[in-house]
Amino acid sequence: MIACRSEQELAKMRASGRVNAQALAALRARVAPGVTTREINRVAEETIRSLGGEPAFLGYNGFSGSICLSLNEEVVHGIPGERVLRDGDLLKMDIGSIVDGWYSDMACTVGVGQISAEAAALLEATEEALNVGIREVRPGAHVSDIGHAVQSYVEARGYSVVRQLVGHGIGQKLHEEPQVPNFGKRGAGAKLKPGMVLAIEPMVNQGGWQVYTKPDKWTVVTADGKLSAHFEHTVAVTHDGYEILTVIEGSMAKGGSVGTQTRRHAEALG
Ligand code: MG
Repeated sequence: MIACRSEQELAKMRASGRVNAQALAALRARVAPGVTTREINRVAEETIRSLGGEPAFLGYNGFSGSICLSLNEEVVHGIPGERVLRDGDLLKMDIGSIVDGWYSDMACTVGVGQISAEAAALLEATEEALNVGIREVRPGAHVSDIGHAVQSYVEARGYSVVRQLVGHGIGQKLHEEPQVPNFGKRGAGAKLKPGMVLAIEPMVNQGGWQVYTKPDKWTVVTADGKLSAHFEHTVAVTHDGYEILTVIEGSMAKGGSVGTQTRRHAEALG
């Protein structure tokens, strides 16, 4: 059963998404060579709480950080710690907030200092893969249309999508139905209805799609040691398209079949 949120519930999710987006903006400003992942985590914790939220990942299944910070060949779920960011690193920041009991989930990839052209191309393709997936969201579309669009876009560029980890429904829990894979055929899975809310999150590898979890039981890395990138938004199905909830100004992030799309979410993300 996939929940459909009322307008009042969506307003709360929008508030949660706004806190998350503001916190992520603060993190982006703090990323620089020489900074530890512990420091980025501290800024996340402080910013989320100062905006009236709680970090959703802290304590989740025993996770010790407030957010996930993953570098280079690390795909997701990296634990913040003493690691120092270095020039050329590819940093993935995955952040979740709870506001008034409602969850939002969001991720982005940023370069630390100057990154290679290869890393920049992967980052750009992954962000666009998220856009491509989001544009599939509308009532009557199938969940798998999102993954199909993401996979087609990514593989046409010579990259691969991670299979073991998927996006998800979100609401009063971090992970709800349905699963939202970044691969698959069109026309499968549940049909989208207005009020459903999905965390769409392509994880894109420079090399093969295979990943494994490190002995710390959290950090997921590429099997071939090549780079990975990750972008995520929490997205609601509207009556004619989608609304991205994890933005600082919500009205800038709507899209739909009647051509009312105002600005692309990339701009809204700043
Ligand atoms: Mg997620």
